[in-house]
Amino acid sequence: MHTIETMHSPGILNRRDFLIATAGTVACLAMGGFPGTSHAAEAAIVLPPLPYAENALDPVITARTMSFHYGKHHSGYVTNLNKLIAGTEYPEMGLEKIIADTAGVPEKAAIFNNAAQVWNHTFYWNSLKPGGGGEPPAALKAMIDASFGSVDACRKELATAATTQFGSGWAWLVADGKGLKVVKTGNAETPLTTGLKPLLTIDVWEHAYYLDYQNRRADYVNAVLDKLINWEFALQNAG
Ligand code: MN
Repeated sequence: MHTIETMHSPGILNRRDFLIATAGTVACLAMGGFPGTSHAAEAAIVLPPLPYAENALDPVITARTMSFHYGKHHSGYVTNLNKLIAGTEYPEMGLEKIIADTAGVPEKAAIFNNAAQVWNHTFYWNSLKPGGGGEPPAALKAMIDASFGSVDACRKELATAATTQFGSGWAWLVADGKGLKVVKTGNAETPLTTGLKPLLTIDVWEHAYYLDYQNRRADYVNAVLDKLINWEFALQNAG
């Protein structure tokens, strides 16, 4: 197996471009193939490249955390998903359709969990950027002000959701058709399945922060909100 290369492409990827990755893409080549397959092109779901270098978020999220979180956890969900869907109709569907088709179906829980975790992690990497945080762009700030009263109130709701999610899960800024709101989900659950449009997310599984912050989840969450959160990505998703 080759090691996974990280690509240093700057800028914001179009959501569909990175979420619906299919065989034959550059990311597939970067994977160097999946265990159990003889050709990389046989893998239906590929691990998208990180949108920045593995050490780009240091010291808020260290390269060591990234190497495990992206290189082992995210990559592992991709590998597991491809094993689970081999020989089914799912490889032709694309990630979002797999998630929609398996959500809430007990006998398909393993496929749902791995597919949703692939999607959630790709979305999370893009919800962060080196030199993030600060003031949202004006168009997003106007939406936040209308729904929360202020950027600070929105930030506090995100921090509260992230720190009070019991056990593993995610905190999200979403659009619900009327405005913006904050929700939290457990384990692999994603707002995609409840008709909400995700704008950004924070991973609060322990693997996201334990190497850098141990049990201090609030310190991780506040550092992410202050220094890494990618408001431009959120605005792109709100459009
Ligand atoms: Mn994670």
